[in-house]
Amino acid sequence: MSARVLVVDDIAANVRLLEAKLAAEYFEVMTASSGKEALALIEKQTPDIVLLDVMMPEMDGFEVCKRIRANQRTRFLPVVMVTALSDQADRVRGLEAGADDFLTKPVNDLALFARVRSLVRLKMIMDEWRMREQTSGAFDVLSSEAEPAEEDHTSAKVLLVEGFAPAAQRITTILAADKDTVEVAANSAEAMQKSAKGNYDLVITGLQIGQEDGLRLCSNLRSADETRQVPILLIVDEFEMPRLVKGLDIGVSDYLMKPIDANELLARVRIQVRRRRYQDRLRTNYERSLSMALTDVLTGVYNRRYALRHMEGLMKRVADTAKPLSVLVCDLDRFKSVNDTYGHAAGDEVLKQFAQRATQSMRNIDMVARFGGEEFVILLPDTEGDNALKAAERLCKKVASIPMDVADAPDGKLTVTVSIGVASTTMAMPGEELIKLADAALYRAKQGGRNQVCADPSALLVA
Ligand code: GH3
Ligand code: MG
Ligand code: MG
Repeated sequence: MSARVLVVDDIAANVRLLEAKLAAEYFEVMTASSGKEALALIEKQTPDIVLLDVMMPEMDGFEVCKRIRANQRTRFLPVVMVTALSDQADRVRGLEAGADDFLTKPVNDLALFARVRSLVRLKMIMDEWRMREQTSGAFDVLSSEAEPAEEDHTSAKVLLVEGFAPAAQRITTILAADKDTVEVAANSAEAMQKSAKGNYDLVITGLQIGQEDGLRLCSNLRSADETRQVPILLIVDEFEMPRLVKGLDIGVSDYLMKPIDANELLARVRIQVRRRRYQDRLRTNYERSLSMALTDVLTGVYNRRYALRHMEGLMKRVADTAKPLSVLVCDLDRFKSVNDTYGHAAGDEVLKQFAQRATQSMRNIDMVARFGGEEFVILLPDTEGDNALKAAERLCKKVASIPMDVADAPDGKLTVTVSIGVASTTMAMPGEELIKLADAALYRAKQGGRNQVCADPSALLVA
């Protein structure tokens, strides 16, 4: 995987060293020698990841990182801080400024490459979700509300894989500062079992779980459907570096060096929990807007756009098989007066219940769609004209004979009626044409006094 890496360091030799290492691994490298220059470059050229020196004159790395995070366009850009200091306090400060990771000089090559690769991979996944959310958001009237500032990172549900009770206790105590709930699994089997059902925000494990291989567990977590998305935080010893690199390649989200520093643990857990919750939110919004793009929000039946698209497929089948297709266009009678008399909410209730009744009184293969306002279209595949007419009459009677439950009406009951136009064809034609024929029949039903069904003459010829 090739990625564009921006290296920021005020010392030219450091820049050249990292540049050479990364270029040898086929990364595309850009460089900047100050925070200011880096911010300007990021605006113009959008790198995939930034390797940022902490100690720089004028603007230090913490400040650069904060500004990257504060900018809407760059707030998701992965940032790895690189420094000669290995001071814990600096690490935590860096993480809190929004850095994704912290590497100390001299930089371990394997760790660097693995980190860059895994962060770039994560960025690509997140970019994809964000893009889908934007695309589907174009259909979605409800989600136009402003995005909440940041995900909450407290009260997370954490699975800790640790066989040694005192160690588990120590981590549990540290995470209590964020009100996290920590459940402990003593071995891999227990961890797999718990994580399949537990819906955790994070799994924390070591590279060694008793006699078991912690990476095996990570790989199993990544391949099971229920846990594919759960972030994994590895706790490692310095000497375990090569296996850590493998872990990052498998898809481990982050790691922490022993001895465990409480603040660093908290900072890293927070980042993972926030990221997980953000990703969940993107996915939920996407799924919601996807269903909204197909269905009508008020009634839950399909919308016009989807029904017309579906009709194209049905017409193709008519062309292939010469089997009939019928369509009903239903329009509630004097609906405006329902709104005027009992209020808009009452009108909405009537629309919902009409959609329900229509769906219930049709077959499974029939499709009910709201075409707009108080007009519904029902598609009946493999149905000839007189059967469609019967179905329409059944629905019309059912609506008129059973009052709807409407809280705002007297006695909570309201009787409404519907007029229906029917058209059928055994020859393929544009869907809109067939609907036009049914519309003309509907017009006659309205003229004839409403609460009735009229069929397009050709529908009866088919019969
Ligand atoms: P007709 O019998 O000739 O069909 O008369 P009508 O009053 O049903 O027809 P008209 O087209 O004049 O009025 C339709 C009304 O439907 C007007 C509009 O305010 C109302 N309407 C459209 N969409 C909605 C909705 O989503 N909710 C509610 N409550 N009313 C709606
Ligand atoms: Mg009407
Ligand atoms: Mg109307």
